[in-house]
Amino acid sequence: MSEPNLTQTDPEIATLIGREVQRQHEKLRLIPSENYASKAVMEATGSVLSNKYSEGYAGKRYYEGQQVVDEVETLAIKRLKSLFGVDHANVQPYSGSPANLAVYFAFCQPGDAVVGMALPSGGHLTHGWNVSITGGYFNAHQYGVRQEDELVDFDQVAKLAREHRPRLIWCGATAYPRIIDYDRFAEIAQDVGAVLVADIAHIAGLVAAGVHPSPVGKAEVITSTTHKSLRGPRGGMIMCDRKHRKKVDKAVFPGLQGGPHNGTTAAIAVAAHEASQPAFKHYGSAIVENARALAEALCGHGLRLVTGGTDNHLILADLTPKGVPGKVAAQALDRAGIVCNYNSIPFDPRKPFDPSGIRLGTPALTSRGMGADEMKHVGRWIAAVVEAPDDDRLQGRVAGEVRDLCASFPAPGVPASSTA
Ligand SMILES: *Cc1c(COP(=O)(O)O)cnc(C)c1O
Repeated sequence: MSEPNLTQTDPEIATLIGREVQRQHEKLRLIPSENYASKAVMEATGSVLSNKYSEGYAGKRYYEGQQVVDEVETLAIKRLKSLFGVDHANVQPYSGSPANLAVYFAFCQPGDAVVGMALPSGGHLTHGWNVSITGGYFNAHQYGVRQEDELVDFDQVAKLAREHRPRLIWCGATAYPRIIDYDRFAEIAQDVGAVLVADIAHIAGLVAAGVHPSPVGKAEVITSTTHKSLRGPRGGMIMCDRKHRKKVDKAVFPGLQGGPHNGTTAAIAVAAHEASQPAFKHYGSAIVENARALAEALCGHGLRLVTGGTDNHLILADLTPKGVPGKVAAQALDRAGIVCNYNSIPFDPRKPFDPSGIRLGTPALTSRGMGADEMKHVGRWIAAVVEAPDDDRLQGRVAGEVRDLCASFPAPGVPASSTA
């Protein structure tokens, strides 16, 4: 008798996954941190490798039976080193936040000064924001963007660095639509003897594709997630100069974690392989072209974009001129089949749980093969729904048009929907 599959063992969960398959098929997914991992990445993630325990590093494990896993992890590291041109990579962090925490653990004592970008300006929680452990256990000082142009305030970064002599300076963001100037950050870090950490979680795929400058050679430590624009499995990684290798590895294991997720490690290797192919460069440039096209369309329909546009995969729209709160807009858009998230804008007069903006990104649509023509439609739909967030009939009509568009752009890694 063959082994029962998920539908037979647990129809309840199978049905829920089926509904998520359908959602990912028929909606436009514009959350900039999300994507569609390939079928190959999904297969590696869900493979038997996840049955294995492998505390330690290749050749120095605390359990036997590592004949295969050692090779898998070594291959993932080798591919990342070659993809990004770094001395060392650690692929064991469970996700982006644990990767960042490991960097604090490698370089700081509790109470040490650190400098990072404030959440309301686009920084990540783990860059020292007060509700994060990184803001509580370290003496975190936060920089932001300038009021006049909404770009990183480098005068403030330099001032905080000189005043507080931090161990770490964090750069990189989670809601910032422009190029990160690693040279400027490196100069400031060097002046005060701080270690510059570049968190490329959102833009790792753009860096790998060569459409965003690389922090390699400028930041001594680089952290990232593997599941955003890089299009790998859910995971994290730390890349660094040779001289920091031991410290970083020790901080991840045994400092912060136990056994690595070996299926994830294999899938990171697959993603790094995919990212080294010519097609990935096209994908990277298409992400940026699509973001520009969408930004242009939104501006054309009278939306105000933070910084006036985008250089990367991400758009922050300030809905204040439309008189619609971000959350109301995001919920109306979801009903219309367009999924994004409400987001604070710099100097937002509204509360974080009810902010003025929405955040949009093009990686997932680009992975489906959509291009500038589709972005024009998407921009028009977004503007229409935002203008009339209570118009159910409009939302129903747009949702139908979205479904029709999505039907022509099959999503990678998503099984054909039973209802499609
Ligand atoms: C997403 C993100 C993280 C955290 O990643 P998780 O996997 O959600 O823990 C860290 N830094 C930045 C800049 C991010 O955008």
